[in-house]
Amino acid sequence: MKLAESAGRTDPGRKRRRNEDALVLEPPLFAVADGMGGAQAGEVASRLAAAAFREYHEADDLEPEERVRAIIQEANRRIYERAQSDTEASGMGTTVTAALLESAGVAIGHVGDSRAYRLRGGELEQLTSDHSLVADLMRSGRLTPEEAETHPQRSVITRALGTDREVDVDSLTVEAEPGDLFLLCSDGLTSMVADEGILEIVRDAASLEEAAKALVKAANRGGGEDNITVVLFSLVGDEAALEETLASGDGRGSDEDLEDTLSGLEGPAVLETTQTRVVAPPAEEPAGWPEEAEPEESEEAPAAPPRRRPRRWRRRLLWTFVGVAAVTLLIAGAIWGLSRAYFVGADDEGNITVYQGVPFDFSEGVGLYRERYVSRLQAAQLSPAEREALFDHELISYDEARARVARYEEQTANP
Ligand code: CA
Repeated sequence: MKLAESAGRTDPGRKRRRNEDALVLEPPLFAVADGMGGAQAGEVASRLAAAAFREYHEADDLEPEERVRAIIQEANRRIYERAQSDTEASGMGTTVTAALLESAGVAIGHVGDSRAYRLRGGELEQLTSDHSLVADLMRSGRLTPEEAETHPQRSVITRALGTDREVDVDSLTVEAEPGDLFLLCSDGLTSMVADEGILEIVRDAASLEEAAKALVKAANRGGGEDNITVVLFSLVGDEAALEETLASGDGRGSDEDLEDTLSGLEGPAVLETTQTRVVAPPAEEPAGWPEEAEPEESEEAPAAPPRRRPRRWRRRLLWTFVGVAAVTLLIAGAIWGLSRAYFVGADDEGNITVYQGVPFDFSEGVGLYRERYVSRLQAAQLSPAEREALFDHELISYDEARARVARYEEQTANP
C-alpha cells in the first residue's frame, strides 16, 4: 500500500504553558506520545519514546506488528531506566500510539489513551480502545459515555510507558484500502472535539496539512484544556475513494502544502515547542468548594405583618420559618457531610490521591472535592482489579482512605 500524503502538528493548547506531547512523522512509521510527570518529566518521557522510534533499528527484521511492539518495549525500557536513575524524572510516564504502514495493511501498537482512527467511505472508526479509568468503567457498564465526559478522573490512564520494567502493549494489524486515511492523536484532541466533529473537519479539508491545522484549531476553540497532537496519513487510491475521503479537496493539497509535508519528513521527527519556562499547570483547587462549617441557625426577619387576618399571617410566618430552618439545616448538613467524606482517586498526573468531598464536577476545574494527600504511586502501577477496588468512589473517613492507599504503597515498595 502506497502512502499518498502525511502531516502532523502539535500545540500546547490554551491552558498549559508546556507541551508534553511529541510526535513521530517518519513514513512508514508514525506515532504520538503524551507525557506525564512533574516539572519537565512529562516532556522527557514523551521525547524518549519518540527518540526510540527514530533510533531503534534492530527491530527491522521483525514482522510489522512485532516490530511496533518491540519499539514500544524499547521505549518503555529507556523511560523506566531514566525514571529510576533520575529523581527529578521519578514517576514520569507517557502514552504511545504508533502505526507502521506495510504492504497489506497498517500495524498499530498502543499504550494509554492516545488513539488511532481510520477514515474510510465517509466513516470514522476508532481502532484502539483507551487504557483509561473511565474506559474501564464504561466497559464494565458502571459509567455511561455522558458521565465519562465529566468524570473527575477522566484524564487518568491505567497503562503507561515508564512506570514498570515491562509494559503490556496492545497491538493489531488492520487491512488498508486505497483512499484510506489514518489519524493518530492525543486526548487533547478527543476530549475537546467529538468524533463527528473530527470526521467533518477531515472531510472538509483540502489537504492533510489543512486537516491537521483545523483539528488543532477546533480543539483550542473547544477549550484547549490540554496539549493537542495529531498525525495524519493517507493511502494512494483511485479518484473515487479519495474524493470520498477528502470531500472538497483534490486529495493532495496545494504545492505549498505538499512542500510543508515533505520538509516535515526530512526535518526533525519530533516537533517541539520552544517554551522553556517551568510553570506548573494551574492548581486544581476548586473555586466552589465550601470550607468546613458548623450548622447555623437562620436569623430570617419576619415580613411586616398585614393588618387584617392576623391568624393567617401568623400561620404563614410559622411555615416560612419552618421552611427556612429546614433549608438551612439541609445546606449545613451537606457541608458537614462534605467536610467529613473522603474518597480515593487519581490526579491529572496519574498519582493516586485522597480527596476530601464527593467525586462530582460542576464544570471543568470546579468540583465538590479537593486534594488532601497525593501518593507517589501511579494508578498505572496497579492491576485493573486493584484499581477497580481502590477507585470505587465509596465515601470513607480520611484514615480509612489513607490506610487503603498505604496497603498498595507497601505492596509496591516490597513486592
Ligand atoms: Ca494529554
